Amino acid sequence: MPELSDKQLQQLEQRLRNRREELREIIHRELANSIQEDYSELAGMVHDTGDESFADLLRGINITTRARELEEIRDVEAALERIKTGTYATCVDCNDAIALERLDAYPTAKRCITCQSRHENRRGGRDATPSL
Ligand SMILES: [Zn+2]
Repeated sequence: MPELSDKQLQQLEQRLRNRREELREIIHRELANSIQEDYSELAGMVHDTGDESFADLLRGINITTRARELEEIRDVEAALERIKTGTYATCVDCNDAIALERLDAYPTAKRCITCQSRHENRRGGRDATPSL
């Protein structure tokens, strides 16, 4: 099991939540700016939906702008989900604990440093969800 104290976990969760709010604002602004009247209702939904439906909504729409923020908010959502299910701070590849320094730098990290470098080498350096 990870060596995180409840307090450390709570702090990381708070940072993830704050980041998610920031990203939502950015994405909402972007939607409001770039999307035509067909989608203005959708933009309103992005602002008002709860956590789960927001994630569903993101999955359902295909926006090419702000892809970086969309990718990041998915990572943040996934990390919050792992906190909820108790798998946060555990490497998805080897099940080892992820070091606190690493989580501090990358609160969305889902791999320990060893597995992450292996993963990036395999993928040519891009950090993305594996296709398998
Ligand atoms: Zn690992």
